[in-house]
Amino acid sequence: MTSLSFIGLGTMGYPMAGHLARKGHPVSVFNRTQAKAEAWCREYKGTSSPSPATAARSADVIFTCVGNDQDLREVVLGENGIIHGLKKGAVLVDHSTVSAEVSRELAQILHRQDVFFMDAPVSGGQQGAENGQLSIMCGGDESIFERVKTVMQSYAKAITLMGPVGSGQLTKMVNQICIAGLVQGLSEGLYFAEKAGLDPKKVIDAISQGAASSWQMLNRHKTMIAHQYEHGFAVNWMRKDLSICKEEAERLHIHLPVTELVDSFYAEVQDMGGGRWDTSSLLARLKKT
Ligand code: NAP
Repeated sequence: MTSLSFIGLGTMGYPMAGHLARKGHPVSVFNRTQAKAEAWCREYKGTSSPSPATAARSADVIFTCVGNDQDLREVVLGENGIIHGLKKGAVLVDHSTVSAEVSRELAQILHRQDVFFMDAPVSGGQQGAENGQLSIMCGGDESIFERVKTVMQSYAKAITLMGPVGSGQLTKMVNQICIAGLVQGLSEGLYFAEKAGLDPKKVIDAISQGAASSWQMLNRHKTMIAHQYEHGFAVNWMRKDLSICKEEAERLHIHLPVTELVDSFYAEVQDMGGGRWDTSSLLARLKKT
């Protein structure tokens, strides 16, 4: 069994670290809000550490799943950050959705200490994390990927090495770009159906086996029709992700017109008080306007 550390026991990290402990790996966890780490230790076999540095000290592989670039820099490079506790030859696997740039920056800094870095953002949401069915997009060396792949299989249904450090994050950006336009399309379809006097549920039954089908349609139409948005992937997180996509597009000198437009729609959903609503709440915006 590999000695592991997990930093960030949020919606995603808590169940992911749980899967690792269930597999029998010794896991040392750190969470900024200590109560969550204590709750985790009551539920799973593992130890709680007072800082990221101490959590990382004896680990062969350290996982992080925090918020944005700034949060990741803080837990890695901060005063009591992971960097102060790493042993030579260890691997840091980052599951947060952050920029490709910060991934490359951290990989370079850690390399000087003979520590390896792999960006490994996930998709599949809370449900995927809880059921151990995440898709993981990785960026890093092949030998490092092979070292950590088996451990990540504890909570994944698909794990793909996309290329060098940063490639995992670039792939996650593609994922979010694809979702943005699609959710707006689905929202417009359901809005149109309602205004045209059709039964939206019957419409979905009729078209969901055809070319218009999507994960969003299959998994979100019921709650959208019921106007329920207090679940799922939060608009605030989506805006963070789309801003990462827009910055990368600028670097690539390309335009993402639909992504930019949908991002501005999400800003309006935030203004409606929907920052924590699921991304399918684009329909709520249409109904309001
Ligand atoms: P979350 O529930 O808000 O949890 C974030 C975790 O990171 C918490 O444990 C938080 O500690 C910790 N954290 C944040 N900033 C920190 C800092 N500066 N220092 C130390 N700890 C810090 O978020 P989540 O939903 O688990 O998402 C985590 C990452 O996965 C994000 O990058 C998100 O975009 C990505 N992701 C999320 C989903 C999803 O469906 N939720 C799906 C795919 C990808 P506290 O408990 O103290 O706040």
